[in-house]
Amino acid sequence: MYRCGGEESLRAGTLSTEPKMKQFSYRLSAVNWHSRIKLPFLVSARVRIAEIATVPTVQIARGFPCGRWDELAAYQPHVLVGTQSELQLVLDEMEKGRLDLSTVDRALVVLTYTCNALLDDVFRVRLWQAFGVPVYELLIGPNSTLMAAECEAHEGWHVQPEAEISFHAGEIRYSFRSNPVVQTGWAGRLEMERCPCGRDSARLVGLERVSRQTQRKFAATA
Ligand SMILES: [Zn+2]
Repeated sequence: MYRCGGEESLRAGTLSTEPKMKQFSYRLSAVNWHSRIKLPFLVSARVRIAEIATVPTVQIARGFPCGRWDELAAYQPHVLVGTQSELQLVLDEMEKGRLDLSTVDRALVVLTYTCNALLDDVFRVRLWQAFGVPVYELLIGPNSTLMAAECEAHEGWHVQPEAEISFHAGEIRYSFRSNPVVQTGWAGRLEMERCPCGRDSARLVGLERVSRQTQRKFAATA
């Protein structure tokens, strides 16, 4: 059964010590079991996508482990993919003048794993100020499966075709291709109206971290 864990339990990019190598092996296998994640916007074959990871989870992306900043800059990516903590490290390097990623001119993709904090407005603005490109947050489940993705309209997260969403005591539960249902740690609701982007798929909106307050609110209205 899947258990909620920190970002590092699901990400392989920065693992180096002996005990953690087991997690690393798991992640490698996990990525091979499922096809890689497709980005929620069109990219031509000439667009270079860099992901801060040893083994990239996004289609076409080339992986650059955390800290290999020279190699990342030399690749001259148009799109940069990473978790919030990894992108925070990138911002730190940029602010210290040690990393030039001015080639990123297409998009930033933030991978947010279940049970982790959602991208907040403060960090979103920081990313915008640093890069000046649209930011897309992707919600990722166990085995690096894509649960829902922001679109260019930024009006919620489109639930992916193979993702099954349910709600329990105010919390969103997720299953991929009928695999075991997992807790996401997030509350929100499903919006069925057509998105301004033109897509008809259901969207998760009003997302927030599940808290005691959320659960009390749900209990009061149930
Ligand atoms: Zn949309």
